[in-house]
Amino acid sequence: MIPDWSSDRILREAQKSKMFVSAMELDNLAFRAGLNPLKLKKTVEIYNAHLTSKLEDPFGRKFRPAAIHKPPFYAIQMQVWTLVSFAALAVNERLEVIDIAGQAVPNLFALGEVIGAGATSGKSYVNGMLVTPAITFGRVLGSSLFQLA
Ligand SMILES: Cc1cc2nc3c(=O)[nH]c(=O)nc-3n(C[C@H](O)[C@H](O)[C@H](O)COP(=O)(O)OP(=O)(O)OC[C@H]3O[C@@H](n4cnc5c(N)ncnc54)[C@H](O)[C@@H]3O)c2cc1C
Repeated sequence: MIPDWSSDRILREAQKSKMFVSAMELDNLAFRAGLNPLKLKKTVEIYNAHLTSKLEDPFGRKFRPAAIHKPPFYAIQMQVWTLVSFAALAVNERLEVIDIAGQAVPNLFALGEVIGAGATSGKSYVNGMLVTPAITFGRVLGSSLFQLA
């Protein structure tokens, strides 16, 4: 996403964010990252021991380029978020919510995220096929309901 940034620039920018911390000792790294120092030390020991003994990683990681010995050490805060949901309410072509028997629930309409990515993208994630239909169907449904009122 930032192909024109040099390695130096990435390091400089990383220092501006609380998500990235570095330290010369693991204890300090844990302190700065808000982690338990003993647990971090143990985790690194287990990681290194499995790597040097050529054992499979306990978490199934395949990319293990080197043991973690040489400072500086870095920690990056990871955050999980949901991009889209495929689980959803089923609707008919009039955007009426349908029950398990396929019958329309009276006066209940749905569109956008709540009808799920599969409604507009099939079995794959297709960029743009969530926000665009949410806006378009919202306008179409809103207009038709307005005319009915
Ligand atoms: C990080 C991220 C990136 C994405 N990128 C893309 C992309 O590139 N292309 C794409 O097509 N889609 C993308 N999506 C998905 C897309 O943004 C959503 O599917 C779409 O915005 C859903 O629109 P919506 O109107 O159905 O729901 P929302 O945009 O979630 O709107 C629901 C609204 O209802 C409000 N609300 C909730 N509860 C209540 C309540 N009780 N009372 C009143 N208001 C309430 C919420 O505050 C919110 O404003 C992305 C989603 C995320 C999270």
